[in-house]
Amino acid sequence: MYFNREDLQQLTPEYIGGLPPQRRDALIEKLREDLIEAQDRLNQNPSNSSRPPSSRAPWDRSVEKNTESPAEECPEEPPKECTEDDNSTDKQNGSSDEGNTAGSAECPKRKPGKQKGAKGFGRIQKLSVTQTVFHKPKCCKGCEREFDEGHQFHAKGGHYTIDLKVPEPSTVGLHVENTKHVYGSIRCECGFETSTNPHRVDSDAEWVVEMGEWRLIGPVLLAFLVFLKTRMHLTVSKSRELLAIWLGISLSDGSINTAIREAGRAASSLEPQLLEALRASELLNVDETAWKEHKVTRWFWAAIGDGVAYYTVGPRSCETADKILAGFTGWLMTDGYGVYRHFEKRLRCWAHLERKAKALEESWDKDAASFGAYAVKTFRTLRERIYRMREIKPAERSQEQSAWSQEQEACDEDRLQLIMKCLDNNTAQHEATRAFAVEILNDHKVIFQVIATPDLSLTNNRAERFLRNWVIARNMCHGSKTQEGSQAVAILASVVDTLRMRGGALWQFVAQTIGLRRSGQAAPTLPPPLPAPS
Ligand SMILES: [Zn+2]
Repeated sequence: MYFNREDLQQLTPEYIGGLPPQRRDALIEKLREDLIEAQDRLNQNPSNSSRPPSSRAPWDRSVEKNTESPAEECPEEPPKECTEDDNSTDKQNGSSDEGNTAGSAECPKRKPGKQKGAKGFGRIQKLSVTQTVFHKPKCCKGCEREFDEGHQFHAKGGHYTIDLKVPEPSTVGLHVENTKHVYGSIRCECGFETSTNPHRVDSDAEWVVEMGEWRLIGPVLLAFLVFLKTRMHLTVSKSRELLAIWLGISLSDGSINTAIREAGRAASSLEPQLLEALRASELLNVDETAWKEHKVTRWFWAAIGDGVAYYTVGPRSCETADKILAGFTGWLMTDGYGVYRHFEKRLRCWAHLERKAKALEESWDKDAASFGAYAVKTFRTLRERIYRMREIKPAERSQEQSAWSQEQEACDEDRLQLIMKCLDNNTAQHEATRAFAVEILNDHKVIFQVIATPDLSLTNNRAERFLRNWVIARNMCHGSKTQEGSQAVAILASVVDTLRMRGGALWQFVAQTIGLRRSGQAAPTLPPPLPAPS
């Protein structure tokens, strides 16, 4: 916009009336351009821009399903202020990892959770013990003699673990078990005393949270907490409420939080398997969305490959893109964002471009509207040709004068015509027209790559569909509070979505991973991807 608020306030009828005619005409022209830009901005809606569907007026929402547009699977580019909305409900339960990140100016700066110097509370819930497990040493560490029932076990300590038992086939309901684990020692005839202790995994430079068997929350209960977080998008305090009311398990926000980060650390040992599957994919859809981490805005990246979903939280930079794409040699589908430019085998999302063309078509600027209409029509025609080419069997494609070569030639003609139009418009006065023309000219090779390889995807919908779930999670849980919290969400999200794509017993796998990693063993192997539908 040329004129800002202050300028407009000075453009009184007296001022305009007092201008010489030539100056007045120039002023009117500037005002006309500003008005067109304002109208175009007013007209922005989910079908012609990156605005989320939720930004529609209520009376427009019911017709949403009828609009036939390539942009139906449009991305939910987040409103920047997403965390400000409804975190008031969680404020009383301050110790959550999720809440209060958008601490507003009026509330006093108080760290969530226990305050320095405040009296602490131990665990007060007393549950009856459902079973006791004695962890006896099996043989002498000194002389390797095997112990039997005759050797006396001296209990020295232990801990309780609350865990869930999922229903067996043909039964219903969750059972909660409170197991007492007892550790101790046996003195051998040789004089050597052999002790047992719950396993503690060595510290890891990437994780602050400790991992080990000395835990109140058992592996299945922890998998359930991960389910509540990643699938139900519950905040920590709501998970706590659910467990207390429906399962009679009383846990603090702090211990739920720590447990979820521990689950993240356990799941992180599956990362190499995920990255390997990513590298082996033929086509990767990559997209990113804003993510709040305390007061900092970071980016939640999604890379969706064949039977694998990988997420990471990091800066919006080449560094993060390179980390995800290291060693990848397949096709990369993205939006127009520049960090991907140096990847050779690249595809561009047409839904984004078609939305921009549609916005131009609806512009109040006459030339912009005609250029936009032309681009909309060209993209629609090309899309129909690509659909037709996909129908042609590979054997028939190489024949001369085939339907295939006719479609290819027609596509090339349409593409050239559009590029010519862009060359006419790349210095246009109307800003959006110019930007669109320049965008197509700069990246036309990649944009029209799909004509040569029509079996590849036309849109980045796959990444957007996966990312949408985490946009909802972010809006409901306000991102995360710490870097480790973000790291845990990203890796758990990767494991959960990958397993959902591959089928199989997802939550048993998560519980098994947690159990194995706590006892110091390697994580299990992910089930293989499902065969692609033919
Ligand atoms: Zn011995």
